[in-house]
Amino acid sequence: MNSRRFCYLDNNATTRVAPEVLEAMTPFLKDHWGNPSSAYSFGHQLSKPLDKARASVADLLGAEPMEIVFTSCGTESNNAAWNSALAAHPRKKHIVTTTVEHSANIKFGQVMEERGYKVTYLKVEADGTLDLGELESALRSDTAVASIMWANNETGVLFPIEEVAAICRGKGVLFHTDAVQVPGKLKINARALGVDYLSISAHKLHAPKGIGALYVRRRAPFTPYIVGGSQEKGRRGGTENVPYVIGFGKAAELAQDMLPDENSRIRGLRDRMEKAILTQIPRVTRNGSIRERLPNTSNLAFEHVEAEGLLHLLDEAGICASSGSACTTGAINPSHVLTAMGLKSDRARGSIRFSLGLYNSEEDVDYLLEVLPGMVQKLRGEPGKMARHRSAKLAASGKAHSLQT
Ligand code: PLP
Repeated sequence: MNSRRFCYLDNNATTRVAPEVLEAMTPFLKDHWGNPSSAYSFGHQLSKPLDKARASVADLLGAEPMEIVFTSCGTESNNAAWNSALAAHPRKKHIVTTTVEHSANIKFGQVMEERGYKVTYLKVEADGTLDLGELESALRSDTAVASIMWANNETGVLFPIEEVAAICRGKGVLFHTDAVQVPGKLKINARALGVDYLSISAHKLHAPKGIGALYVRRRAPFTPYIVGGSQEKGRRGGTENVPYVIGFGKAAELAQDMLPDENSRIRGLRDRMEKAILTQIPRVTRNGSIRERLPNTSNLAFEHVEAEGLLHLLDEAGICASSGSACTTGAINPSHVLTAMGLKSDRARGSIRFSLGLYNSEEDVDYLLEVLPGMVQKLRGEPGKMARHRSAKLAASGKAHSLQT
């Protein structure tokens, strides 16, 4: 095997902080560390850079600065949107979402069910797409909110959010979309999309973990999810995370500047990688529709291979990717997304997600293509033995890679 290099192909899980972002943040960690709510200038002078960062994030989303509420992450943004919509219609006890949402939504739905709500989880087609007719008939007069993700984090499949928003609007139902996987990959115009709420998370965009944002359409109802101080115009309590907001703003600017070129560069890289794998390695199939999907994501099923075994070999070679398995009580379960698409357990358990990003190069793809065929052969040569051994070890240690990201 080749000398080990580091090759990060898991950009849907998280991304490296851009040096420009770190540089923009550093003065706010070292020197300007005041509290923006303080009466003296060392504190309140921070409102200007905060406003600038808010404007940059708003620009990225095609929104107005006052429509942006900073949160701690994508999960909080999702929870806050659902909470607001439910609070706006306390008598409406029905929620519509999909079976392929991130756990931030699936789990919130389960909690709401325990509190007496009815939740409809819309099924998806075999290629991961959504039947809009099903959505239309699921919406009822007592539906408080529909929450449907824009881009699936595992397969990259995109739902037609503009059409979904129009259907919801037509039925008088508030609409939230989890767009965590979209910024930096596709252009966003929240206003034109017609959504009421839209969630994003900075760590998917070359800013640090621990900061996110929720777009709240100007006239959409909003009830704070985290209460306390009057920060974020009373919409989210808690002292502003100034350095991270600044970093988020810088990352949004970078994404805006680079999007058109990066989008086609990454798409080209992903397509070359995917085509080569599909042609050079026998019995590999693609999961999810290719008609509408993120430019950076490829989810592939390797027949007669356990994904955890392959991930282990990739890891040994310095390559980071993810499987759809989640380790629950010592057993490796196939991804809920692939299962919802009707994949047989074996195929789901042999599936790997590669997700490319800003810092990936042609050399990264060359390296993967050089080492991957031998790894698959090795795993297939000892039918299931190595993979099963590794899976059992991972399950026992509770360290199986999980695609809750
Ligand atoms: N929604 C989607 C689609 C995601 O991929 C993620 C990533 O983990 C989240 C929500 C949660 O975001 P965060 O990690 O910022 O809470």
